[in-house]
Amino acid sequence: MEDRRENSWGDNFDFPPSVLDEIQKNIEDIILNFDIPEGNKLDVIKKINFMYSQTRYMSVTDPLTGLYNRRHFEDNLEREFLRAVRYDNNLSFAIIDVDFFKKVNDTYGHSCGDYVLKEVAYLILQTFRKTDMVFRYGGEEFAVIITETPIEKAVIPLERLRKSISEYPFSYNGTKIKITVSIGVSEVNKQTESVHQLFENADKALYKAKENGRNQISLL
Ligand code: GH3
Ligand code: MG
Ligand code: MG
Repeated sequence: MEDRRENSWGDNFDFPPSVLDEIQKNIEDIILNFDIPEGNKLDVIKKINFMYSQTRYMSVTDPLTGLYNRRHFEDNLEREFLRAVRYDNNLSFAIIDVDFFKKVNDTYGHSCGDYVLKEVAYLILQTFRKTDMVFRYGGEEFAVIITETPIEKAVIPLERLRKSISEYPFSYNGTKIKITVSIGVSEVNKQTESVHQLFENADKALYKAKENGRNQISLL
């Protein structure tokens, strides 16, 4: 997995959540020592706290779909992997990739592509429990961390999702569009040596699902 943290400092709001938390911890001290009229200090603190929570939200959220973004994904996958190994919990992981998505953009335009991504994100979110985590991992790639669930159980909601996307009446400016997804799934077991391996296994399974004809789930 590529580590994007190193190059994330160029963007104005792209602070890792840990840095934002550090700023938050110190903010009240900074304000109290600033030369602000006593009566206004509470207002200033409230305003800055509000800005802080907005910034923190933006730092973990994909603006198009409202799902968690890729950086948040990397932090969470590692943590859930370590937790599963330590407590011997089941953990499954899935990558969901829209089939022939480039063709959607090329045929119907980029805005239609965006519409499809938003709908797919919504359908994924509807499928999983609140204890699972759904991310937009890349352009038309989504990731789901399925906690406390072995792979043979994880495929049940994933298959339901695959089917519901293939049957969903996507429609953009009156044009009906058929969308399918391919899904690669992996799990933490005795052979899983690292979080990278967990990710790579799902990625390899996804590749297999594409090779075998798309609109299907593959396990590894
Ligand atoms: P495959 O079935 O093998 O996955 O084919 P594909 O066309 O889905 O895969 P490919 O990687 O060739 O194309 C992905 C496309 O997704 C290319 C890129 O322009 C588009 N894309 C990435 N992000 C966005 C986005 O935010 N909005 C839109 N509309 N398109 C996006
Ligand atoms: Mg892709
Ligand atoms: Mg694709």
